[in-house]
Amino acid sequence: MELPWNSPGFVNVYFIEDNDGYVMIDCGVNGNEYQKLLETKMDSFGLSYENVKLLIGTHMHSDHIGLSSALRSNDIPFALYKNSVDFIDGYNDWSIRFKKLREFAKKEGAPKSFLNDLDQIETPTYAGKISKPDVLLEEGSIKNVNRNIEIIFTPGHDRTEISILDNPSKILFSGDHILPKITPFIPVEDARDDMLEKYTSSLNKVYNLEQKLIAPGHGNLIEKPYSRIEQMQLHHKKRSDKIVDLIGDSKFSGWEIVNLLFPRKLDELNLRLAFQETMAHLIYLENKGVIKHVLNSNKNYWQKVKLV
Ligand SMILES: [Zn+2]
Repeated sequence: MELPWNSPGFVNVYFIEDNDGYVMIDCGVNGNEYQKLLETKMDSFGLSYENVKLLIGTHMHSDHIGLSSALRSNDIPFALYKNSVDFIDGYNDWSIRFKKLREFAKKEGAPKSFLNDLDQIETPTYAGKISKPDVLLEEGSIKNVNRNIEIIFTPGHDRTEISILDNPSKILFSGDHILPKITPFIPVEDARDDMLEKYTSSLNKVYNLEQKLIAPGHGNLIEKPYSRIEQMQLHHKKRSDKIVDLIGDSKFSGWEIVNLLFPRKLDELNLRLAFQETMAHLIYLENKGVIKHVLNSNKNYWQKVKLV
């Protein structure tokens, strides 16, 4: 399915055949034109809404579930991982979503322009509005699905992210947890939130599954699942090592480290992603005992833990 932005320009939608209908994975963004596109594409496979017995969202991002409410109104039940109920308000109202991040960024020395940009974020229409899913998924098999499909909870890129293992084919539908070309962004909202630890644990969890092929949320099928997962593990290790090197024997605010790590001028969105990515690594390194977060009343900074 096409997306309203350039990279990645598409989201993958999958249909798994069960004995009484199809399980659909993800659906694209909200909007009449996107719904029409989906219908045309489904029609080209000989599928219509009546053939779909369940829509599963891999995680709560608009490119994966934006169109879900429109499909529910066509009698397709919608499933998300069970913890999704805690994040529905934040999905529907992005000002809630970025409030915590704003406070955090302020203490990490972010400039006014960055904080103002966060204040001005509005919920995009392509996200649609969602309400409590019809089915709240747990790990393991799915109620009312006969095929041996397994849900694996893989938080990190999103707090609600799941991967879906089709046991008969050993194809792993990975959402954005594992992608072929890029490493997914790691969201962080405050200093107590070790999302990178969650993400790397989820990578290890998936590495231990028997799988032949990964069907990701964006891009082409991944034919060498294990080596791709190893590459992604290595990416985060290298970035962590680089941050420790950059800090050296000095101390820096979180924002200064963002600028050291991403010296190129970034647009508003990429700057936010860079901030969250950097903070994810700093928090991860802090919890590993490599660096420490020194809290001041107005501005926090980071420094290496000195080994005595
Ligand atoms: Zn995505």
